[in-house]
Amino acid sequence: MELSSAAERQNFTARPRYDATAGVLIGSECADCGARSWPGRGICNRCGSPRLEQVALAPAGSLQTYTTVHVARPGLAAPYLLGQVRLDDGVRVHAHLRGLAADAHVPLRVRLAFAADLETVPPFHFEPE
Ligand SMILES: [Zn+2]
Repeated sequence: MELSSAAERQNFTARPRYDATAGVLIGSECADCGARSWPGRGICNRCGSPRLEQVALAPAGSLQTYTTVHVARPGLAAPYLLGQVRLDDGVRVHAHLRGLAADAHVPLRVRLAFAADLETVPPFHFEPE
């Protein structure tokens, strides 16, 4: 398959990032090497294949590290927590965190949760299981 076929794929900004009804993030999986990514990619970052399919990712994982953001981007109230979660299927996600104890230590089991109003920023976060 030619790499040019990737240009015919759905634009990056048009690809779904999550399915709140199913309670999962939507990523990509390479048909050639099996690499998964979130957000979904147009070209595999491991092998360069354009043969990627949308897949539902694991809804839980392990928080690997996190930090408190004191200088927020526009539209968000500081402070808030950001962290790296390794989902149970191996995909790493950089996301907002809620509900962590002040003395939380990593690794920590977390699960995906969605805002009641998906227009909220952010529309999803991770919280302790
Ligand atoms: Zn690949």
